[in-house]
Amino acid sequence: VGTKSEALMEMEKKFAARIYDPIPVVIAEGKGCIVKDADGARYLDFLGGYASVNTGHCHPKIVATVQNQVMKLHQVSRAFYNSEFPVFAEYITRYFNYDRVIPMNTGVEGGDTAIKMARKWGYLSKGIPENQAVVVFPIGNFWGRSTSAISTSNNPTSFEHYGPYMPGFGLVPYDNVCALEEVLQNKNVCAYMMEPIQGEGGVIVPSEGYLKEVRRLCSKYNVLFIADEVQTGLGRTGALLACDHECVRPDILILGKGLAGAVTPMSAVLANEEIMCYMTPGSHGSTYGGNPFACALARKTLEVILEECLIENARKMGEKLRAELKCKLPKVMVPAIRGKGLMNAIEIHPDFASSHDLCVRMKECGLLAKSATGQSIRLTPPLVITEAEMEEGIEIITKAVHSF
Ligand code: PLP
Repeated sequence: VGTKSEALMEMEKKFAARIYDPIPVVIAEGKGCIVKDADGARYLDFLGGYASVNTGHCHPKIVATVQNQVMKLHQVSRAFYNSEFPVFAEYITRYFNYDRVIPMNTGVEGGDTAIKMARKWGYLSKGIPENQAVVVFPIGNFWGRSTSAISTSNNPTSFEHYGPYMPGFGLVPYDNVCALEEVLQNKNVCAYMMEPIQGEGGVIVPSEGYLKEVRRLCSKYNVLFIADEVQTGLGRTGALLACDHECVRPDILILGKGLAGAVTPMSAVLANEEIMCYMTPGSHGSTYGGNPFACALARKTLEVILEECLIENARKMGEKLRAELKCKLPKVMVPAIRGKGLMNAIEIHPDFASSHDLCVRMKECGLLAKSATGQSIRLTPPLVITEAEMEEGIEIITKAVHSF
């Protein structure tokens, strides 16, 4: 007779479509940075739900908000006003200093919303001829799995056999100012949409000054700068927004992942009136967008980020993680350790192990992480991680690497 975990893994393998290749562990409960599997074994969670569990598992204030709000009202739709959305809208626009917000659900919908906004602005403000607008993306981008999102992807596993693809998108190399300037000169370009640090692409941190140059060039050529901060936002990189590291302000900001405390999906797109004025009744929407449950949770999550100094903690814990791993892991085995705040990746040299095998070994030693593009493994624990938990995590990663 197998364990409870084994039975559950077999069940999923039998009945679920095989679109994921999970590390063999069945998580059954969590608290802060710690999770337990279905058989009671304890692990440090260094993935944090693909960087969505910023406030940790089952944070008491988030749980209390869930309980409170779910007993009162959870879904209305925006056919009517509801008691939470207006308060959230005021709160989040002040928090990030934009005029208006569009609430959506997933990150990919946030990206799609931003593209629609930029195209409409392109036609009605910039004067681009109808159906000619181009949105430019950097190579290596990832903003989700919809047919539009895969149309900007250069990862064959993501896009192959899903065509035809959405027109009106262009690609430029990431972190390359000259290449960007060249494409932005096309008068039909309405926006450049990018992640300030590429997440799924392998935690690629651009050179210092790149974001400033992006801002300068977008302004120079009257192109909207769309920052996809779905993964980098909300304190993850040791600043509220990754754009804050270079004091630049995007025209359109996309947030998602842990916005509603990692309890329910919520994304948000923020911009000023000059862009939002074109989004009129009937032109966009979502059944669950702005639901009172997600709104109450988002407001509480944004409060917790400030009250518990999670941005500062992400910065400090990230510095500790990278500094100590650089000391403890031999460069021949782990040629790259990179990141900002608690958005990090290490690369294992293929002579020693595949990134999947290293993740499995780390799991056996008590730490959960998942590979990203190529040989990289992302390390994105909850922002509530304590110093003791970080030290334990560093020890486990070191032990797992040395076991090869
Ligand atoms: N944008 C970025 C930068 C992301 O990392 C992701 C997901 O990993 C998305 C968008 C898509 O978010 P979702 O999976 O909620 O659609």
